[in-house]
Amino acid sequence: MRSQFGETSEALYLTQGYVYPTMETAEARFKGEDKGFIYSRFSNPTVSMFEQRMAMIEGAEAARATASGMAAVTASLLGQLKAGDHVVAPRAMFGSCLFVIDELLPRFGIASTLVDGDSLDQWRAAMRPGTKALFLESPTNPQLGIIDIAAVADIAHKGGARLIVDNVFATPLLQKPFELGADCVVYSTTKHVDGQGRCLGGCILGSEEFIQTHIHNFLRQTGPAMSPFNAWVMLKGLETLPVRLAQQQSNAGRLADFTAASPHVERLLYPSRPDHPRHALAMRQMSGGGSVFAFDLKGGKEAAFKFGNALRIIKISNNLGDAKSLLTHPATTTHQRIGPGARAMSGIGEGMLRLSCGLEDVEDLIEDVAAGLAAAAA
Ligand SMILES: *Cc1c(COP(=O)(O)O)cnc(C)c1O
Repeated sequence: MRSQFGETSEALYLTQGYVYPTMETAEARFKGEDKGFIYSRFSNPTVSMFEQRMAMIEGAEAARATASGMAAVTASLLGQLKAGDHVVAPRAMFGSCLFVIDELLPRFGIASTLVDGDSLDQWRAAMRPGTKALFLESPTNPQLGIIDIAAVADIAHKGGARLIVDNVFATPLLQKPFELGADCVVYSTTKHVDGQGRCLGGCILGSEEFIQTHIHNFLRQTGPAMSPFNAWVMLKGLETLPVRLAQQQSNAGRLADFTAASPHVERLLYPSRPDHPRHALAMRQMSGGGSVFAFDLKGGKEAAFKFGNALRIIKISNNLGDAKSLLTHPATTTHQRIGPGARAMSGIGEGMLRLSCGLEDVEDLIEDVAAGLAAAAA
């Protein structure tokens, strides 16, 4: 959508509101008879451009941008649920998603059941008459677990529920949840879509009917809006997403193979490696392994800390999807809050590290990991 100036780069409409030529226009716009913009809490030209582009990439009818990935996750659930409803989700989830489903929703009378995402029997057994939504992440954060999206979508639909997929790790390029039966896809665009560590953002995608019925008015009235500036940055991010992701994935593959070969590494989880426990499923529903892998170091937390502290190029951070390679120790950071019991049940060991591969020269990254492994073994 270009303005009258024909700019090359999308225009940044950094405005809260809009002025109307006449009182009649204002009235018509609020009645919905005139399609123009009203207020940037629920619509803005730059944000709309980003939403349309996300919908095109995903192959969805409609999209709405949000202030963060967690705003998207929360709205995708609260927008369609009410007291008395029930949600099913895997135990292995991003910590904040777990909080929303396991602690926040129940406060408002929306019960939830947590299952082992790998076990279709547990998904089936958790279904009950009031089950309205199933939620999953695949690959999971941080243990790169793979859940059978088509099979879970089928269980959801047989029980009259919708499936929401948090597709952050795969990105819109490597996995198409709608083709596997999902009803709603959510993103933290903070991750690969921005891809350069600048802005927070999120996106909710679905059919026009789903967005209109459950999401649009919820966002309009509650206000977790994406800033036009952030939408503009995200639009720039989308232009380079395919080339960044291809290079990050190539770096991740090389680095995962190098890391897995070390005698100090107990196990490494990367979906496109044949030794991933759900490799065949991963390759059925994804077109690549992505930019992130996880590995368990022998020697637990002490070895993991020595590894991280010896790095020079790879940075210690809880983020992912960035152009800079970032290392996380989930047990003491992103998944500290859930406690040792829940961590053990989700397969997050004290020696587990998650590595999000960036765009640095891969030989430099290999050298850095080699230094980390040497330090961990010392
Ligand atoms: C980061 C992340 C989120 C939350 O996104 P924010 O933009 O940080 O709010 C949700 N789900 C997954 C899988 C994530 O990695």
